[in-house]
Amino acid sequence: MIIAIIAHDGKKAEMVQFLNEQADILHKNEIELISTGTTGEKVKKAGFKVTALLSGPLGGDAQIAAKVADGTCHMVIFFRDPLEKHPHEPDISMLMRLCDVHDVPLATNPSSAALLIKGIYSN
Ligand code: PGA
Repeated sequence: MIIAIIAHDGKKAEMVQFLNEQADILHKNEIELISTGTTGEKVKKAGFKVTALLSGPLGGDAQIAAKVADGTCHMVIFFRDPLEKHPHEPDISMLMRLCDVHDVPLATNPSSAALLIKGIYSN
């Protein structure tokens, strides 16, 4: 299973904390992580293996959206910062729309992401 992780700047620390909390489940289920560029750098520094694509504002969200569309990304964990404006808002909307088009699980905050990860574990 391939899971995309994305975190806006104000949420990157939360993403690292979330992955640390879920590290056992991620490891046991042989989950592959992909990410946008800067999120990937932070997560790598925390010791996780992740394939980092372009930074979000440079097209990383669009790259992940394409993987959702072609079936090579099976879940998206996207910690958005609802209190900031983002220059790549159209890409963000496209990613979320394509998750709905292709029925790919999408979590936008740690509580819902934890439930999704639990769902993998129970399968
Ligand atoms: P980043 O992109 O991981 O490169 O910061 C995230 C985003 O803003 O979508």
